[in-house]
Amino acid sequence: MATRGFDSYRLYFAGSAILVLIALVAQFELRGPSRPVAGPEALAELATRNRQQRDLNLVFLLVDTLRADRLGVYGYERPTSPHIDALARQGVLFEDVVSQSTWTKTSMASLWTATHPANHGVLRFDHVLPDAATLPAEILSEAGYRTVGVWRNGWVEPKFGFAQGFDTYVRPAAGAERMRVHRESGNPNALTGSDEDLTLAALDFLEHSGDRRFFLYLHYMDVHQYAYSESSPSFGTAYPDLYDRAIHWTDSLVGALLGALRKHDLMDRTLIVLAADHGEAFREHGVEGHGRDLYRETTHVPLILSPPFRLEPGLRIAQTVSNVDIWPTLLDLLGLPGLPGSDGRSLLPLVLAEAGGATAQPAERPVFAQLMLGWGNVRRESVPLFSVTEGSRRLIASQEDPPRFELYDRARDPQEQNDLYPEAAEEAAELQRLLEAYQRDANPPWGQAPLVVEIEELRLNQLRALGYSIER
Ligand SMILES: [Zn+2]
Repeated sequence: MATRGFDSYRLYFAGSAILVLIALVAQFELRGPSRPVAGPEALAELATRNRQQRDLNLVFLLVDTLRADRLGVYGYERPTSPHIDALARQGVLFEDVVSQSTWTKTSMASLWTATHPANHGVLRFDHVLPDAATLPAEILSEAGYRTVGVWRNGWVEPKFGFAQGFDTYVRPAAGAERMRVHRESGNPNALTGSDEDLTLAALDFLEHSGDRRFFLYLHYMDVHQYAYSESSPSFGTAYPDLYDRAIHWTDSLVGALLGALRKHDLMDRTLIVLAADHGEAFREHGVEGHGRDLYRETTHVPLILSPPFRLEPGLRIAQTVSNVDIWPTLLDLLGLPGLPGSDGRSLLPLVLAEAGGATAQPAERPVFAQLMLGWGNVRRESVPLFSVTEGSRRLIASQEDPPRFELYDRARDPQEQNDLYPEAAEEAAELQRLLEAYQRDANPPWGQAPLVVEIEELRLNQLRALGYSIER
């Protein structure tokens, strides 16, 4: 991994006042729109523009543990996300997006490589994405982009294979502690710092980015940590309230970033994407957190594309899509080569069909998710859990002995509370066939199973401190 330019010493911030920063956002917004208005057909022209003018930057915002249904623009009643909502209203919002797993590493391996978990095989705490895999940063780097990743989640650290293609891939040093972190207080291994550090690193990068096209990946962690600043409004004291407060805080940091993009006149040549690796459970099915099952509260994630122009009105896409579709779509929009062996597809034809009012949309595809139950168990075998969604039906299948199935009608029962399998086993047969094919055809496109890495006890403790149970 090279670290030329954007030296890591720049990431040592101390004492910058976030309140000042957020006040600046409002000032930038007063400058008025810095993006032209365009119709959806302009989406189809971006690839040609970028091939000819080579002028499109890409900012990829990954908000760890963000449920779609907790954002205003996805229908939430609380005002958790004013900046994200504004971005979505002038862009493209996908209403029904399924993440391919419910913990960071498996899900991010799918997101980056556009392959299903069964294919990339990065399923357990010690699995590593091999160098033979192609990641989007490698394609962007090859195309001349400066590639910068700033992250705070230990599951995406270089050791697990996620730095491939990045010129700079850093965890920002913790600045002055201004956060109230809910869950981790008192834990000596708790994640230090906050997404303010990550935001300040990003603002510093933008200040010095120069004329070269860039790809900037920011992996926000404060929602995962239920961490927030006193400047964000309180919604109450229960876990879901603190979670909402952390979303509001993260949204204000996204607002600060957008303000900086406006300040540097980058909005009309930057494609912005907001996505999440999984959601979070609040006892809808008896458990809290994530990485323990595959129910909707942990797999329904947001996806927002914000092109370098304003769509008025913005587009909302109802068809079910998945996180493996994200990078095929972005590379298509940028006019760059696709990921080899991808399980995903570009969503551009779907967006254009929707925008044009076409009655014939690209056919809906079955969408898969997978989790190894016991992925953090050092000694015991893991048990695979799968889900397949097709139309309004969703089957969840566990390979315990004996196998266990659940079937849900998402149209009538979006919260997946009423298991139909006991009465509708025959109806589930088609979905079971899809799952059998999913497993039977599993094969990494790069022809190599995941590597296994030794993780020292100290690092395991740090990962445990993220709230995961990695058992001894
Ligand atoms: Zn995560």
